[in-house]
Amino acid sequence: MEDIRGNLIKVRERISSAASQAGRDESEVCLVAVSKTRTPEEINTAIDAGVTDIGENKVQEIMDKYDAIKPVRWHMIGHLQTNKVKYIIDKVDLIHSVDSLKLAKEINKRAGQHEKTMDILIQINPADEESKFGVSLSGTKELLEEILETCENIRVRGLMSVAPIAEDPNDVKVYFDEVKKQYDEFSRIEHPRLDFQYLSMGMSHDFEVAIGSGSNLVRVGSAIFGERDYEAFRRMNNGGN
Ligand SMILES: *Cc1c(COP(=O)(O)O)cnc(C)c1O
Repeated sequence: MEDIRGNLIKVRERISSAASQAGRDESEVCLVAVSKTRTPEEINTAIDAGVTDIGENKVQEIMDKYDAIKPVRWHMIGHLQTNKVKYIIDKVDLIHSVDSLKLAKEINKRAGQHEKTMDILIQINPADEESKFGVSLSGTKELLEEILETCENIRVRGLMSVAPIAEDPNDVKVYFDEVKKQYDEFSRIEHPRLDFQYLSMGMSHDFEVAIGSGSNLVRVGSAIFGERDYEAFRRMNNGGN
């Protein structure tokens, strides 16, 4: 089994040195441990080692694991289908992947039924990659305004972005910088349902670069839990997907 504790120490050291290089304090950067394909045992080991936030990208995995995981903040970081919002609305603390008004309206409706206010981030696709979800940089402001206008049970807490894959992560810094620029601009909007606090950017291979651009929430999976083995994960789930 992976040395999850040891890996966490290394990840925290990487966060700390990236933060200090950027003239920031490491306490400004929230670490979300991305636990997709991981067992409850592995996830609870991470929680015992100090992880306070976990991220999943599939509704089914959240439902399967929810009862077996120790108290922790849950982040939905993957693409969310409208018809599945109802299964996680009472389980997750922050939804990172809102990229359409239709999805926001469904979240708003389900949050209302649970008499809660749902915290969300708007997901931006800064390089307009077809393979990725997210709203374009140029469409973000309109979506934000529509959500603020129509979704009284949603609080918009910031932005999320997944950068293109690059051999050298420094090559995609320009995208992180663009998203940061939008973040700063939107932060200044005064609205009772806008309270920017999270700029969710950076994964195992590029979180140092993202922190250099101003990210304050990094989503780190393989650097903590080891490389994902999707084959083994499928076998464990009896061939289901
Ligand atoms: C899987 C995933 C991550 C973590 O990726 P690693 O490369 O394992 O750190 C981060 N963000 C999203 C949206 C993911 O799906």
